[in-house]
Amino acid sequence: MRIAEVHIYQKDLPVVGGPYTMARAKVDSLDTTIVRLVSDSGLSGFGETCPVGPTYQPQHALGARAALQQMAPGLIGEPALLPLTLRRTMDGLLNGHNYAKAAIDIAQMDLIGRHFGVRVADLLGGASVEIVPSYFATGVGAPDEIARVAQEKQREGYPRLQIKLGGRPVEIDIETIAKVWEAVGPGMRLAVDANRGWTARDALRVSRECQAIPFVMEQPCNTIEEIAAIRRQIHHPIYLDENAEDLATVLRAIAMGVCDGFGLKVTRLGGLNPMVTVRDLCAIRSMPHTCDDAWGSDIIAAACVHIASTVEPRLLEGVWLAAPYIAGHYDADHGVRIDSGHISLPEGPGLGITPDEGVFGQPVLSLG
Ligand SMILES: [Mg+2]
Repeated sequence: MRIAEVHIYQKDLPVVGGPYTMARAKVDSLDTTIVRLVSDSGLSGFGETCPVGPTYQPQHALGARAALQQMAPGLIGEPALLPLTLRRTMDGLLNGHNYAKAAIDIAQMDLIGRHFGVRVADLLGGASVEIVPSYFATGVGAPDEIARVAQEKQREGYPRLQIKLGGRPVEIDIETIAKVWEAVGPGMRLAVDANRGWTARDALRVSRECQAIPFVMEQPCNTIEEIAAIRRQIHHPIYLDENAEDLATVLRAIAMGVCDGFGLKVTRLGGLNPMVTVRDLCAIRSMPHTCDDAWGSDIIAAACVHIASTVEPRLLEGVWLAAPYIAGHYDADHGVRIDSGHISLPEGPGLGITPDEGVFGQPVLSLG
């Protein structure tokens, strides 16, 4: 079975109730890219990649489509059922650009699952659970408002909350953490995420002044070096997110002992197969992590839930989805939904979702 056609689509995903605010970015609408691989047997597999604006990471939407257009002609005629072979083909066509390769990787796993009639989770080693925990991420907001949201999400059943901080006086961040803790107490696990927005000075102050509040501190500063410099003075577990750029960096971070866990993004690492490598590295060192992506709709959501279901449950911090901020689904019947703070593994072969005909409009590129 070989890849016979490659189609690339673009779709806007307006932020419901937007904008969504992070320390260094404010987004009103996201530009997502969808890849559809068609085999010579007539099966389709779907992948997606959707950077959360152009400043969250070096990745951006136009870059994803440029990279995919660069690789697409070289994919026609390639074996459809061999992920490692396709990975090497992609690396031979374009250096880097893991986030674009991820859309092809996800589409191929969907295609393989459909061919063999098995779920992607089972291709990735086997689901250990059928329902995974989600977590809700607040935007950066006023302390009382974020405390209100925290309570609301706790009532909805979310087991974990991530508080977005940074990009303002650190005193307001500290006040926000204190008010959330007062509102939800120990019944909800907490992460605080400054999205690279704190100086080392600010991160140290937050940890010192909130010493009694048990949260995970995610990506406080811009670089691994800044985090390494203050690591031993911080009272809280530290997770890397944006800095976990690729497999080599994840390996280096683990070896350096610079963090206690990760916020992982499927597309940043290159797709589901590189995520398997990181999942197994984290398991070797008992490091908890999430299985998320920066943004994206049902295809990305399904990919995140499939890999998350294969993670040792005690190490899974949860799956963040953009779903609460997106109106509608690619697949009206089987689109991925969060129910009481948890997500069911999609049923059916492949990713378990089949985008409705015409939902993506005309492709920006079609080959084959
Ligand atoms: Mg993060």
